[in-house]
Amino acid sequence: MQEQIIRTEKLNVTSQLAASLAHEIRSPLTSIKGFLQLSLRNAEGKNKKYLEISMMELGRMEYIINDFLNYAKPQMESIGVFPVSEILFQIKDEMEPIARANHVDLQMLAEEDLWIQADLSKIKQALTHIIRNSIDATSASKGQVSIAAYRQYNQICIRIRDNGVGMSAEQLSILGASFYSTKMNGTGLGLMVTFRIIQSIGGRVEFKSVKGEGTTALVKLPTAPDLQLKA
Ligand code: ADP
Repeated sequence: MQEQIIRTEKLNVTSQLAASLAHEIRSPLTSIKGFLQLSLRNAEGKNKKYLEISMMELGRMEYIINDFLNYAKPQMESIGVFPVSEILFQIKDEMEPIARANHVDLQMLAEEDLWIQADLSKIKQALTHIIRNSIDATSASKGQVSIAAYRQYNQICIRIRDNGVGMSAEQLSILGASFYSTKMNGTGLGLMVTFRIIQSIGGRVEFKSVKGEGTTALVKLPTAPDLQLKA
């Protein structure tokens, strides 16, 4: 019991530290981004290219910092009720250029009238991580990633299926564990954050995978309790 309390306290301190660090880094990052954007307007040739690369790298930093913040504070902060198809279309639009660059065919089919209650940016980040992982896993071959959203009993299911490299049973068992990554420039933060966000809205994520054949992630979410909130 005592040990449990100490562990919880340690986790709280670590979470607070990560949250305040991420928060503090975010504001200078935003101002650097602003100045880079201004400089880009008049830049030409090599300078333009360097500034564009800097912007891209800043974007990546921002993404990682958001992951830290979301890990430390998975609680929903600005909650609304949103249609799942809308959220998935937004993510698909954002992911399409990455999929195309990796020769991955990204398909989506979402039933209408599926509503969830969540913090939009957090749930988007959680789903984006799963979809991004599927794209990364299929990029070596002519990959296919398909996203489907449907209702099952009183739950909303979002299924992300790929025909990528797949995972062994051992890999599956440590998925989402601290900083586990097999990617050259991975952080291993993605699924840690994803699991925490989905759990915080009463959902869960299940993974099935066969090495060499592909992976299916199934996200199960509760339907929005009060559809009146839509208005
Ligand atoms: P990162 O993307 O930084 O590696 P994640 O937590 O998102 O961190 O993923 C952890 C690891 O899980 C990945 O590096 C990869 O090895 C594995 N993984 C996740 N999704 C898939 C998938 N769809 N197919 C194969 N491996 C996957």
